[in-house]
Amino acid sequence: MNLKPQLLPDQDILVIGAGSAGCLAAMAARESSSYSVLLVERYGFPGGTSTQMLDTFYGFFTPGESSKKIVAGLADRVVNKLHESGDIFLRPNTYGAGTGVNYNPERLKYVWDQLLEAAQVQVMLHTTLIDVMPLSEGRFEAILWNKSGLFSVTAKRVIDASGDADFCHLAGFGYEIAGEKEPAQSMTTTFRMANVDLEKFEKAGGKKRLQELMNATAIPLPRREGSAHEMNIPKCISTVAVKVPHKNALKNAELNEAEKEGRRQAFVFEEFFRKEVPGYEQSKIIGLSTQIGVRETRRVYGNHRLTREECLAAEIPEDSILLCGAPIEDHRAGADGESETHWEYIPKGGIYGVPYGTIVPQKAESLWVVGRCFSATHDAHASCRSMAQTMSMGQAAGLAAQISLDRGFSASEIPIHLLQERLAEVGAILTRPDQEAKTNRDDWAKNLRKS
Ligand SMILES: Cc1cc2nc3c(=O)[nH]c(=O)nc-3n(C[C@H](O)[C@H](O)[C@H](O)COP(=O)(O)OP(=O)(O)OC[C@H]3O[C@@H](n4cnc5c(N)ncnc54)[C@H](O)[C@@H]3O)c2cc1C
Repeated sequence: MNLKPQLLPDQDILVIGAGSAGCLAAMAARESSSYSVLLVERYGFPGGTSTQMLDTFYGFFTPGESSKKIVAGLADRVVNKLHESGDIFLRPNTYGAGTGVNYNPERLKYVWDQLLEAAQVQVMLHTTLIDVMPLSEGRFEAILWNKSGLFSVTAKRVIDASGDADFCHLAGFGYEIAGEKEPAQSMTTTFRMANVDLEKFEKAGGKKRLQELMNATAIPLPRREGSAHEMNIPKCISTVAVKVPHKNALKNAELNEAEKEGRRQAFVFEEFFRKEVPGYEQSKIIGLSTQIGVRETRRVYGNHRLTREECLAAEIPEDSILLCGAPIEDHRAGADGESETHWEYIPKGGIYGVPYGTIVPQKAESLWVVGRCFSATHDAHASCRSMAQTMSMGQAAGLAAQISLDRGFSASEIPIHLLQERLAEVGAILTRPDQEAKTNRDDWAKNLRKS
């Protein structure tokens, strides 16, 4: 057996994980720079959760009647590209999370490909990070595996966007595992149904009637709430209703069980929809999420840890790198073991700023951590994990890595004004918008739907 890794060319910036955070980190790292950027992804397509299981970006807009656009920059490029082919529509205020930008997830896989290629990011798909060796001067050697064998790559700067903080874990940085101190958020297998007669569904009472039927049915539904919303494709519905609590996605045996339970629940819902919901009689499940959706696992200890109190204080600290207005949306198991969702809204205009230190692991010199494994408590994470925010974290880390290489600063030494200037150049919003923001929304809103 030959386990000697093949050497890949040394990289300026290595990004692990091509989810919404990792794709944006890689794009931002290449933005107006000549640094080499390698993006490593274990699946065969980019996007992570955005393409594996979802179809709606939340977090671009604040909830409420006078909704404001609070995220912009490279994330707008993603939506604009989807808009070019008519693959988005806006979904106002679903479940109080703010206007959602609904997209066709299959098109989004292709859009991520196009945007990464245009940015000249080198992408290695079907490739998994399996080990890390810290080297001198803050550099790292990463060991990758794919069907062609083992590979070794050294990088001057690394951005961990693996969702599970795999790089930080393998490199020995500290983190909390969801479920250790507070109940971890449940996992969810999403599913899509085709051939739904939406006109008939609406005539029969729409979502209100659906909720009544869910409450009354004799079919043992695992959960009696959740989102079943219209997709970008006619007569198709996307559903976030399954809930699998009390499982740790970092433990293989538990993740196996969760996958099977998620599929079982999906088909219980199918039976209910087909038998009892007007308009769904001829419908069928046409797709389950690529894997069960994992909301949280490792949350890295950073130079700053975002807390529930900070979210609810609705302040924008001077070292902010992005804004968030999403409520704390905690999908947890209730006292009786049943899954339930807790909502808590951000007061005072509903916006808070996220400090730079939340994406810098403690003691890191040349490493950032972005997306759902950034530094936050359980509650704060439950607010700041929508994809507009994870994309914004990626954007900030990619630009921070550039500045760090340009000027020789370590991750924690970067003067915040330099990063904020670069963020402003790419169009990020870092101050409270004082009136209803029109940018993009007017354009995207041509595709506004009521559901
Ligand atoms: C069920 C569910 C419903 C949600 N609903 C919404 C919603 O409607 N709207 C919204 O905005 N947000 C929603 N969220 C939250 C949001 O989707 C996530 O917080 C966000 O997508 C996380 O992005 P990420 O890039 O940090 O991680 P991920 O999307 O998980 O991306 C991580 C990437 O890293 C790759 N990876 C992992 N380990 C390795 C490794 N060792 N080597 C190589 N690659 C690796 C993965 O394959 C993946 O592509 C939902 C989350 C879940 C789970």
